[in-house]
This record gives sequence, structure tokens and C-alpha cells, in this order.
Amino acid sequence: MARKLTLNSKWTLNSGHSIPILGFGTYKMAGPQAKSAIFEALKAGYRHIDTATLYQNEADVGGAIKRGISELGLSRDDLFVTTKLWNADHGNPRKALERSLNRLGMPYVDLYLIHWPMPQSLSTWKTLEKLCSEGMCASIGVSNFTIPDLEALLQISKIPPAVNQVEFSPFLFQKELLDFCKRKNLLLEAYSPLTRGRMLGDAALADVAMRYGKSAAQMMLRWCLQHGALPLPKSSHKERIIENSKLFDFSISKRDMEKLDSLSKGLHTGWNPQDRISKKAIDLFSPLLKR
Ligand code: NDP
Repeated sequence: MARKLTLNSKWTLNSGHSIPILGFGTYKMAGPQAKSAIFEALKAGYRHIDTATLYQNEADVGGAIKRGISELGLSRDDLFVTTKLWNADHGNPRKALERSLNRLGMPYVDLYLIHWPMPQSLSTWKTLEKLCSEGMCASIGVSNFTIPDLEALLQISKIPPAVNQVEFSPFLFQKELLDFCKRKNLLLEAYSPLTRGRMLGDAALADVAMRYGKSAAQMMLRWCLQHGALPLPKSSHKERIIENSKLFDFSISKRDMEKLDSLSKGLHTGWNPQDRISKKAIDLFSPLLKR
């Protein structure tokens, strides 16, 4: 890699805004647990928090950030906050973002994503472009978009998506999608970069990790970074939150990167956006969301 990365490093998005290269995931955390984990993440040096309407924890994210600002001397400008538009909200993206901002207690988010590709995504994108030009979100992007989804969006967009957030780990090395995103100057954000914990005990991964004196989690996250993807690990435990941020005192050799690449076996720990049944199943979530 051309330059040495640190926890304070940032990538520059195609919108011109910069984004801290490690994010903190918040799926399946809410209430006091979420508040305390996010505060611990800020203490450990994370400056980038990933949430979504679906997670029902935007108010907790906002609360933890307020606490970080008052107790850690941070300013809002030091932080990068992403939230996402849920499938049920394509009818009124402006209202959806206003609600998210209210819950977060913020006048803007750094990044607003379409959470899933939906039939209405292209018209929704036009509204997101307006919201972006009005300053309600600094950058806009998408999540779970396939190459054909991205191609369709790129054809109609005046503001191209800044990121595509997808599942990405050594066990799901989406090389074609990664290369496409790089060619089009979109950042690939890696969700479930730790395979939700499922593959942390894999013997081949453990073998490589042992040689570097690092944990399996650290190897998976460093692998993402070295591929130019932005990992978003989630943990509710202070010691793991810290462990997952310590990725900058080693680098994986080319040979070992290839070894980790070869672990890929198409493991989707969440829904696979290529699968139409998943798209239907995910809609079942929508009525569960509190308004
Ligand atoms: P991750 O791959 O980040 O794994 C989280 C799991 O790994 C938790 O069970 C956590 O346990 C455990 N874990 C974390 N660190 C360690 C460690 N060092 N050692 C051992 N176990 C560890 O899964 P997520 O699915 O949460 O993905 C990360 C983030 O990506 C989400 O939180 C969310 O922000 C985003 N996301 C986006 C999606 C989308 O559709 N756009 C879909 C899914 C996720 P514990 O908490 O108990 O420490």
C-alpha cells in the first residue's frame, strides 16, 4: 500500500468529503448497551458510526455522540455518522431522513444510504440528490447493490453514489464487485466483516493470525483495509471494541492476502441481495418498525 494507515486515516469520497477508514457497526444493539458500546468506541478512537432506521437505535447513537462531545472533548465535525433509508420509506425519503435526524438529534448526517435495492430506488435517488444539495446529508450512497443495480443507478444519477455497503469478508470475497466499485470511484464498505463471529474459529484463518501474533478478528479487518474496503465491525464488549481498532501496527504480506482470499466460499451471514426470496423476506421487517 502506498501510505501507512492509522486509526485517524481517512479516504476521500467521490463527493469530496472524507470518511474515517474504520467504522463502528451498531446492528442488533439498542438502549443502554448501544449507548455504552458506542461511547467505548469513541473512547477507543473510532470516529465513524454506522446505524440505520432498521436498527431502531438512532436515538442511542445520538445520545452516545452527545456524551462523547461533552465528555471526550470531541466536536460533531470530528465524527462521521451514517444512517439508512428503510424499504418501507421509499414513498417519502424526505420524511424518513427528517425522522432519522430527529432521532439522532442532528441537523445532518455525513452519509445517507438506500438500505436495499428496491424497484423504486431510482426515483428515490433523485430525492436523495435534492436532500444532499439541501445539506441534510453530506454524501449519499447505497447498500446491498449488485453490479447491475449500480449500473442502472449510475446511468440516471447526477450525484453518483459515494459508497456501496455490502457484506464482505475473507469468506465472501466479492472481488468482481470490489473491482467494479474501484473503477467507478465508489468506496466499498464491508458489513459483517467478522462474519458475525461465525468463522472466527476457522483453522486456516487462525494459522495465518498466529504467525502475525494477531487475533482472527484483526486479520479479517486488516484484510478488508488492504483490499481498499472500509470495515464496519460491531461489538458490544469493550475489550473487543479496542481489539478491533488495533489494526495499524502490522500489514499482511501479499502471499498471506492471497491465502486469505482463497478462504472465500460465498458465505452470506445475512440476506443475499442477489436472491429474490431475500428481497421478499426482508419486507416482512418493515411493519415491525416503530414510526
Ligand atoms: P460483524 O461481522 O461485525 O460481527 C459482529 C459479531 O462478532 C458480534 O456477535 C460480536 O459479538 C462479535 N465480535 C466482534 N468483535 C469480536 C472479536 N474481536 N472477537 C470475537 N467476537 C467478536 O457483524 P455485523 O452483522 O454486526 O456487521 C457489522 C455492521 O455492519 C453492523 O453492525 C451494521 O452497522 C452493518 N451492517 C449493515 C448491513 C446492511 O444491510 N447494510 C447488514 C448487516 C450489518 P459482541 O457484540 O458480543 O462482542
